[in-house]
Amino acid sequence: MSDIDEFIRADIPPSGDGCVECERLGSWWLHLRRCAFCGHVGCCDDSLHRHATKHAHDSGHRVIQSFEPGEEWFWDYTTETAFEGPVLAPPRAHPRSQTTPGPADRVPADWEEQLAGNA
Ligand SMILES: [Zn+2]
Ligand SMILES: [Zn+2]
Repeated sequence: MSDIDEFIRADIPPSGDGCVECERLGSWWLHLRRCAFCGHVGCCDDSLHRHATKHAHDSGHRVIQSFEPGEEWFWDYTTETAFEGPVLAPPRAHPRSQTTPGPADRVPADWEEQLAGNA
């Protein structure tokens, strides 16, 4: 078993349809990422809060997979490389009905300016 396989548990389902912390905060996100170890769904580094990366740093869970429909890539925070991994437990993306950014009812009218100011 290689190192990285220890951080991928294909049988763990995702935590939900949206970023765990943003749901708690009443915030919104651009794209979603899924922790390959515990299923935590968090927002991407182009989102305001970057909860996926925060989760990886706080927990030591170093591998994520995109939680966007049609995207299969994995990312290893330790080696900073993308790779192809196993098929994780479904669902493997947020519902297609969810907007990007999302969720639709919490995205502010000036979301593009907010993200530009966040870069
Ligand atoms: Zn978030
Ligand atoms: Zn995790």
